[in-house]
Amino acid sequence: MPAKKSSRWSRRLDRAAKLAAFTVRYGGWARYCPVCGRSFRKFEASGKIPRKDAQCPSCGALERHRLVWLYFQQRTDLLDGRPKQMLHVAAERCISNRLKPALGDGYLTADLVNPRAMVKMDITDIPYPDETFDVIYCSHVLEHIPDDRRALREFHRVLKREGWAILLVPISAEETFEDPTITDPAELLRIFGEDDHIRRYGPDYVDRLAEAGFSVKVTTPAEMFTAQERVRMGLTDDAGEIFFCTRS
Ligand SMILES: [Zn+2]
Repeated sequence: MPAKKSSRWSRRLDRAAKLAAFTVRYGGWARYCPVCGRSFRKFEASGKIPRKDAQCPSCGALERHRLVWLYFQQRTDLLDGRPKQMLHVAAERCISNRLKPALGDGYLTADLVNPRAMVKMDITDIPYPDETFDVIYCSHVLEHIPDDRRALREFHRVLKREGWAILLVPISAEETFEDPTITDPAELLRIFGEDDHIRRYGPDYVDRLAEAGFSVKVTTPAEMFTAQERVRMGLTDDAGEIFFCTRS
């Protein structure tokens, strides 16, 4: 058999074997990922201390991504087909893959370091005029930013008056705690839970949003879904809650 043909066959066999292995491992209906719309027997574990039922084996969505996608669909006007200018900071690929085709030219991804982002952006100094965006979505970024208050003021500045923002952080303390003198990654890991986190937020995060000028509506998965639905879509406590912000 010519070498070209044999390598094509071997690639096909390889793909078929991978598909069979995936089906054996994940095939089933007990879990549903709303981001990619596929069903599975289980989600994958994820995290340094592995969390069960965390990651979609197909699109990679985590608990919080599934929750925010459902919130976008059910509680906002994001996907109503009308043109919008949206800023998506540190875009998660699973969400971006859905938003880009839905929003077309109005969709902008931004990141300080990731070269896949459409624009390089420091969120404490956003290079856009006041009231540029209808929607801003920024998830699990502020816990890395020394001057998070300035970033929040910038989000408020570039948001249109009738716009809204979803600004998510992990809530992992009774009260927000930070200590700029801690810079050693091992110490950051020990105290803040990740070696590049510089802060733990508490429920008083809403006060910080309010200080920047936002009105905040907090929604938990339990307010949106039954216990059975939460299990099926893997909306465990690690999904967190939604902080929906408008300009007050
Ligand atoms: Zn998925």
